[in-house]
Amino acid sequence: MTDRYAVFGNPVGHSRSPRIHALFAAQCGQDISYQAILAPKDGFAAAVDSFVATGAGKARGANVTVPFKEEAFRIATQCTPRAQAAGAVNTLSFDSGVVLGDNTDGAGLVRDLKHNLGCDPGGRRVLLLGAGGAARGVILPLLLENPAELVIANRTEETAARLALEFARLPGCALGVKPDGMGFPALVERQFDLVINATSAGLSGAVLPLPSFLFAPRCVAYDMVYGRETAFMIQAREAGARVADGLGMLVEQAAEAFFIWRGVRPNTAPVLAALKK
Ligand code: NDP
Repeated sequence: MTDRYAVFGNPVGHSRSPRIHALFAAQCGQDISYQAILAPKDGFAAAVDSFVATGAGKARGANVTVPFKEEAFRIATQCTPRAQAAGAVNTLSFDSGVVLGDNTDGAGLVRDLKHNLGCDPGGRRVLLLGAGGAARGVILPLLLENPAELVIANRTEETAARLALEFARLPGCALGVKPDGMGFPALVERQFDLVINATSAGLSGAVLPLPSFLFAPRCVAYDMVYGRETAFMIQAREAGARVADGLGMLVEQAAEAFFIWRGVRPNTAPVLAALKK
C-alpha cells in the first residue's frame, strides 16, 4: 500500500511541496503519494483527522504551512526540541496514535546557507529581520551554528526584544551567544556579514528602513521569500551584498522532512535546479 503524505495550508494552491516530494520520491525509489489539502481556517485539526482516517494506504505524515504552524504545534502529542523552541510545527509524523511535531525550517535555512551558498553562519555577525513564525523557527538552529552575534530586528521592537529574551533564557541549551532584540532604528551604524530577511514585507512590496552601511563587505543577504525579486534583495544588491532567495530553504526543509519520514536523504541539487527552471 502506498504511504500517504500531504501539505495543509490556506491558501495552498501555490505550494511547491507536492512537486518537490514527488521528485524526491522518484529519485529515492519511494512509493508515496503527496497531495495539497486546503484546510478551512477554523478546521485544521479536523482536516488532519480526516486525512489520517480516510483514504487508501496509511497516512504517515504531513507538512504544515501558513497559517497553521502554531496550531500544528498544539495538536502534536509529542514535539522535538527544535519544534518546542519554535513553538511551531511544519512537519507531522503519524505513528500508532502518536502525532510527532517537528520544525525543519531552521535546518533547511542552515543547510541552504552552508551547502548551497557556501555561507557558514559560524563566526559571522548575523542579523535576522522579523520576529514572526518564520523567524522563531530559525533562531535555535542559527544559534547552534555559533555565530559571532545574532541580532533580531523587527518593525515592532517589543516583539523582537521578547523573542530575544525567550531564546536567551532557553532552558537546557548551552548556547554560546545570546540573541539581542531591537527595532530597525537601532541598526544605524551596525554592520553584519549575514542578513536574513524573515519578514513578509517582500510579499507586499514594502521597503524596509535599512541603512546601506548595514551590509558588511562580502555580506550575504538572504530573503526567505522566493519566486520574486523583493525590495530587500534590490536594497542589498545595491549595497554590494551577495543576494539569495528562499527557494533553497524551501527545498532543504522539505528534504529534512522527507528524511524524517522515509529515513533517506534526497539529493536536493537536481530538485532545486528543476524548480529554478
Ligand atoms: P508572520 O506573519 O508570522 O510574520 C511577519 C513578520 O514580518 C513580522 O515580524 C512583521 O513585523 C514583519 N512585517 C510584515 N510586514 C512588514 C513591513 N511592511 N515592514 C516591516 N516588517 C514587516 O510571517 P512568517 O514569519 O510566517 O513568514 C515570513 C516570511 O517568510 C513570509 O514571506 C514567508 O513566505 C517566508 N517563509 C519562507 C519559507 C521558506 O521555506 N523559504 C519558510 C517560512 C516562511 P511586525 O511584528 O511588526 O508585524
